[in-house]
Amino acid sequence: MPDGIGLISGGLDSLLAMRLLMEQDLDLLGLVIDTGFSGILDPPSGDDPISPRHSLFEVAQIIGFPLKVVQVHDDYWDMIKNPVYGYGKHVNPCLDCRILMLKAAARVMEEENAQFVFTGEVLGQRPKSQLLHQLRQSEEDCGLKGRLLRPLSAKVLPPTLPEQSGLVDREKLEGITGRSRKRQIKLAEQWGLVELSVAGGANCYLINEAYSDRMNDLFRYKGKENINKNDLALLKIGRHFRLSEKLKFIVSRNKQEHLIMWDLTDQNFYLECLDVPGAVGILSGESNPALVKQAAEILGRYSKAKLEESINIALKKNREVIEILTVRPQTSRQILDKLLI
Ligand code: SF4
Repeated sequence: MPDGIGLISGGLDSLLAMRLLMEQDLDLLGLVIDTGFSGILDPPSGDDPISPRHSLFEVAQIIGFPLKVVQVHDDYWDMIKNPVYGYGKHVNPCLDCRILMLKAAARVMEEENAQFVFTGEVLGQRPKSQLLHQLRQSEEDCGLKGRLLRPLSAKVLPPTLPEQSGLVDREKLEGITGRSRKRQIKLAEQWGLVELSVAGGANCYLINEAYSDRMNDLFRYKGKENINKNDLALLKIGRHFRLSEKLKFIVSRNKQEHLIMWDLTDQNFYLECLDVPGAVGILSGESNPALVKQAAEILGRYSKAKLEESINIALKKNREVIEILTVRPQTSRQILDKLLI
């Protein structure tokens, strides 16, 4: 039975909060909330800027704490569509997100018979979700009043119940405030955590500008209530071109995306270059022959035949060829940029 449940984002601060409490004689459980909009559980990938550098499970093992994953995809999507406290700079509803995660952590606390939940939040570090009144708001909204410990800022916050009862020694906690990272870096160096953090909030798709543009495009053209799991899966990959109000064309950028798209061919029309190596593409929405031709021309641009007079492109559904189109690859940067979301 753990004493405390620690929300782990994979970023440095949540790992520091865990490591700081590990200095005390406490049983701790790390908790990852799988929202469906984060790369936190993705396998490490060197060339994707929003993919973690280490698997979170490896990180937990190295530091020495057990890790539990709770999946909240449906609730999270409902929240993103109508966040009570609104969006940040992109489609990131940070305060609502924190509250949803804390509520999930509160449920795990009850299930595990634990005494408190803790996070890596630092007072005043992030204007949108970590001001004092916002920290209090999220504590109250999630039903954790008095049981939500922020070890990195604890000394400048009112004592929580586990501190009052002596379960947690307040004197061994920190009193960090503001945006300076000096103290966190010092502690991370002391405990060898610098290389272990997996990019924290940076692995959240919702603060990625390109991803947000694609999400806003879907909100506008498809409507929040009509967006399905297939649309959301496609948002994470490829170059997206809007061909009409009802049709998008998504082109793979690498072999990994090529394979992901292949798995989605039973739900979508699929375009593939014939005879030459090239990208693949998915038509998402309602198409017609003119739009399919336009998509084939775009796909030709991302093939070895991009400077040729013509290229053959197969249109497939359910992995069966429906039609073979012969088109001229689209080479106009201006046209491509205009269509690119
Ligand atoms: S950055 Fe993403 S994961 Fe972090 S609080 Fe905001 S919405 Fe949630």
